[in-house]
Amino acid sequence: MEIISKVIKSPQFARFESAFRFGRLSHAYLIVGEDFSSNNAFCRAMALKLVCQQHVPCLECAPCKKILAGFHPDVFVYPKGKNFVVADSEDILANVAIRPFESDYKIFLINEIDKATPAAQNKLLKTVEEAPKNVVFLFNATNAQNVLQTIKSRAQQIGIDNFNQMPLDQHPDYGFLVDMIQNMQSSRQTLKYAVRFAEKTGFLSRLELLGELFEKMLYEKLGNGDLFGAVKNTYHEGAIAEILGQITLAKQQFLANVGVNLITDNLLLKILEVRFKWNQSA
Ligand SMILES: [Zn+2]
Repeated sequence: MEIISKVIKSPQFARFESAFRFGRLSHAYLIVGEDFSSNNAFCRAMALKLVCQQHVPCLECAPCKKILAGFHPDVFVYPKGKNFVVADSEDILANVAIRPFESDYKIFLINEIDKATPAAQNKLLKTVEEAPKNVVFLFNATNAQNVLQTIKSRAQQIGIDNFNQMPLDQHPDYGFLVDMIQNMQSSRQTLKYAVRFAEKTGFLSRLELLGELFEKMLYEKLGNGDLFGAVKNTYHEGAIAEILGQITLAKQQFLANVGVNLITDNLLLKILEVRFKWNQSA
């Protein structure tokens, strides 16, 4: 329950909400993150948004409560057994054309699609592509590399955080990233930081934290808190905005399987370049 509240406040969820508001809902989503329970919670929050009476999600109305209790007649959660298998796909195929009972949407939430057999994934393809308008597929995966390209190409990917995580300063990379933001001044120094930054373990969560730290800096520039001290004056608002854009790009590249070394080199050099450029022009 607490994790759902964190999900609902996240920027990734805000983007989903805005897509919903503007009628740009995709018929399939692939949620990718390193923590299974966060991925599952994000998908449940999406389902809540769709079936909530007010589309808030309020967590209080009857449809919201049914989802939280794990029983809503229009929300189907898979796999039924340990892993998603062909029988699960067949179950979905038989069900997909039946109209929803209570809400405007019929939702198939498929956990850990990366652990499904290729046969089971393949069997779903046509349905995902040709599903009735009110059907939404919510897939999630901890390892996007094991999801068939054909599924990926039909689903909108959203990279998410580990919402079970502790506060910012307890993240294992907190000290490292604060040091990098403060002290990385030359392209030679980027090499030093790149080695640790590009470690594959926790890469996505490191990118998330880096973004959060720059957001925090922006907030500090408005006079709130003092983590970065005088260093924040060496990052122009325009520079921070560009850096946040680059971090988003880096996340997308990671989800598209671009190598971590290449992403890291580009990102760190860009941070350096942008910081310098805005200081020159300021
Ligand atoms: Zn509700």
